[in-house]
This record gives sequence, structure tokens and C-alpha cells, in this order.
Amino acid sequence: MRPFEYEEPRSIEEAVSLLGAPGKNRLLAGGTDLLVRLKRREWPVDRVINLKRIETLRGIEERGDWVTVGALTTIEELERSEVVAKRWPLLREAAMEMASPQVRAMATAGGNLCNASPAADLAPPLLCLDAQMIAVGPRGERTIAIRSFFAGPGRTALAPDEILTGIRIPSAPARGCFIKFCTRRAMDLAVVSVACAVVSKETRLALGAVAPTPIRVAASAEEAAMRCAPIDDVRATAEYRRELVRVLAGRALAKAAS
Ligand SMILES: Cc1cc2nc3c(=O)[nH]c(=O)nc-3n(C[C@H](O)[C@H](O)[C@H](O)COP(=O)(O)OP(=O)(O)OC[C@H]3O[C@@H](n4cnc5c(N)ncnc54)[C@H](O)[C@@H]3O)c2cc1C
Repeated sequence: MRPFEYEEPRSIEEAVSLLGAPGKNRLLAGGTDLLVRLKRREWPVDRVINLKRIETLRGIEERGDWVTVGALTTIEELERSEVVAKRWPLLREAAMEMASPQVRAMATAGGNLCNASPAADLAPPLLCLDAQMIAVGPRGERTIAIRSFFAGPGRTALAPDEILTGIRIPSAPARGCFIKFCTRRAMDLAVVSVACAVVSKETRLALGAVAPTPIRVAASAEEAAMRCAPIDDVRATAEYRRELVRVLAGRALAKAAS
């Protein structure tokens, strides 16, 4: 790892100002993606800005028609949250399927989404729930619909000087499930993931690991298999992934309907 400056801002404003300073700046949340990249020297960095001391980025808050999940909320906190368990089983299942207890205790919801892996486990359930991403930068606050948030592998709609402060989810409860297919039983990224939600009689389906970004698709197994754009890689061939989408989407739809 090459040397870099290290900052621990205490407020969002301070973090935004540091992020906009000259040089290659990177935000640190749980560090479970970032530190791996830094150690492999994949990302040149002049300054690491640790968000962990900003208390306002933590926690799950119900207010009016929305539940807001702070960007620093850990995957373990999502897994244990009664609010999540009561309303959105698919989101809880995705949290429970991720990595290992040790990684889940460090990894954050914001980091999972901002890392923008096509296989990010939280993305398909949040796509089904029509979540909104709250971004803060020097020009103030804005919300980005999650369907417009992912721009490609490792790329999001955030400007270079914007921070994701939270994820806002419409508070309506949803029946549904999350199915993750891996080559190992634990500590593996998805070969294919499928989330399905029934919200006020509307059935929604989203896929992970089968396109450059996680995607929402029509609630039909055949259409999902046609619409996805998988690649061959170390985990599976594109053809196998497409067949998995057909089978797993069918199972998820049947389970959500029962
Ligand atoms: C052993 C292992 C197993 C894993 N298994 C899985 C798995 O099964 N499923 C899965 O989805 N992921 C998995 N991951 C990846 C990783 O743990 C998750 O993506 C995690 O949620 C990242 O969160 P973090 O807080 O650690 O992010 P960090 O590493 O701190 O940050 C990730 C990226 O997001 C940016 N970022 C972080 N927070 C913000 C913010 N608030 N605003 C703007 N940008 C921000 C950082 O600058 C960085 O570019 C695994 C990782 C490891 C090491």
C-alpha cells in the first residue's frame, strides 16, 4: 500500500469539503472493499476520508411514509433490525446472505451500494422496494432513484464530490424473498441473485450479477431470462447464468405469490 493522508471528519459538511479538495480522495466506510483495493494498489489515492465518526450517518429511522437507512448502517444492523424484519423480508434475507458475520459487522449499506458491484447483495431488494439514494455535495442535497443510481461496474450517479448519506425506502411493507446462487456455501459473491417483492398487489423483480449493473426487470421468469445480459467469468458461463435466472426468478415469483 502506498502512503496517503488520512482524515476523520466529524460532520457531513467537513467530509464534503475534504472530498472536494485537490488530489485523489476516497471515502472509507467499513473498508471491506476499499482496503482490499488499496492493498492491491488498484486505486491510486492521496487522501482517505473515514466517515465512521459522523454519527448522523448511522441508524434506521422511521418517519412518515419513509424509512431512512443511514449510509453507515452496517449489514449486521440491517440483519438485526426489527423495522426491516417486520416490513421487508427480502432485504433481511439479502443482509443475512452476505459474506460472513465478521464482514457484516464492518461492511455498510452505503459502501455496498457505492462500490457498485453488479453482484452487490443489497441492490436487488432495494431496486424492488423503489429506494431513493440521498446524496449530499457542495451544491446541497438531492435524491436519486435507485434505478438511476448504478452507472456500470464500480460507477454510480454520484458526482465525485458527493457523499451518499442514506437510503430512503417507502415504508409500505412487502412480501417477497431474496435468492442468491453461489458456487460456495458462504463468503462468495453471487453467480446470480434474484429479489422479488409484492408491494400493494404489484409484483416486482430485480436481478444481480447478470448485467453491468443490478437491474429491475418485468415480473416474469421468461422475460427476466431474455432481458439479462450475463457474461462468462470465473464463476459461471453466460449461458448457465441465463438459465439460472429463468429458474430462480420462477422460484422467487412462486414463493412471493404463496
Ligand atoms: C471476504 C469478503 C466477502 C464479501 N462478500 C460479499 C457478499 O457476499 N456480497 C456483497 O454484496 N459484497 C461482499 N463483499 C464486498 C463488501 O463487503 C460489501 O460491498 C460491503 O458492503 C462494502 O461496504 P464497506 O462499508 O466496507 O465499503 P468500503 O470498502 O468502505 O467502501 C466501498 C466503496 O464505496 C465508497 N463509499 C463508501 N461509503 C460511501 C458513502 N457513504 N458515499 C459515497 N461513497 C461511499 C468508498 O469510497 C469505496 O469506493 C465481500 C467483501 C469481502 C472482503
